[in-house]
Amino acid sequence: MNELPDFEITDKWIVSCRGKKNNVDPGKPYAWLVEKERTSSGTVEDVATIFLTNRECPYHCLMCDLWKNTTDRSVPGSVIPDQIEWALNHFPDVKHLKLYNSGSFFDKKAIPEKDYEKIASLISSFETVIVESHPGFINEECIRFRDMIKSDLQIAVGLETVNPEILKRLNKSMTLENFAGSVNFLMEHDIFTRAFILLRPPFLPESEGVFWAERSLDFAFSAGVECCVVIPVRPGNGAMDRLLEQGYFTPPDIRSLEKVLEYGIEQQAGRVFADLWDLKLFSKCDVCLDERIRRLSEMNLSQKFSKRIKCTCDTL
Ligand code: SF4
Ligand SMILES: [Zn+2]
Repeated sequence: MNELPDFEITDKWIVSCRGKKNNVDPGKPYAWLVEKERTSSGTVEDVATIFLTNRECPYHCLMCDLWKNTTDRSVPGSVIPDQIEWALNHFPDVKHLKLYNSGSFFDKKAIPEKDYEKIASLISSFETVIVESHPGFINEECIRFRDMIKSDLQIAVGLETVNPEILKRLNKSMTLENFAGSVNFLMEHDIFTRAFILLRPPFLPESEGVFWAERSLDFAFSAGVECCVVIPVRPGNGAMDRLLEQGYFTPPDIRSLEKVLEYGIEQQAGRVFADLWDLKLFSKCDVCLDERIRRLSEMNLSQKFSKRIKCTCDTL
């Protein structure tokens, strides 16, 4: 792994590395799904996720690829409630809903404030509603929205990493104090927080990737986060591919994800999930890949240690 680069990682550089956005239709969410998740009360239940189509996030984090499914301009009023209504008509009955908008739910350029009431009336029958936000958008608006819905509100916030040098280079425009302050503010208003934590961001060797993901879990829970999701970092957004070519980034190994999940669950500080999306990217061994994915999924749902997988690749 090369040393830290001597060039500065700026918005301009990150955006200059991008390819084209996907063609998205503001009339519809760009994706939707239902998956099982362990709830905070210990049951395993269906959770629906709607990936809303809206204006791109104003931040430009180094590892983010969410801009790919966004519009350049704000979408007109009532488009977001229409997307939600459309998706809800396609779902079976579920009790928990994630509204993810490739940015911050409370960014008024992404979701117009005047749409909150219609959104609230559409989702008020859900037991839990989870939205995402950068700390820069966590303020009184979150409380106003919480008051409009009858559901428990949880806000997912990217902590990413507590390694101070790397956090700076991720260009997130966030400090650890900002993160902890937001979690505290939300807690004071009975809003739960879920933290996204990166496994092996750029500029770190594998073992340090694991070390910093574990320290990030410790920090998140001590700040008052209720649940953490560990996300292995992938290339594909332009900037990360550039760093990969230059030797500043290597995607983590699936076995490291297992290690961090084991650690997180062992702490018994709150729910810890491994992000399971496209895990074949993180394995060089076809023999054990499916078994490892099955193990991670089992641990996500049980929040208990599952027997380790033995494979010849363990010695590599
Ligand atoms: S704040 Fe979130 S959505 Fe916005 S660029 Fe950063 S990671 Fe992506
Ligand atoms: Zn193997």
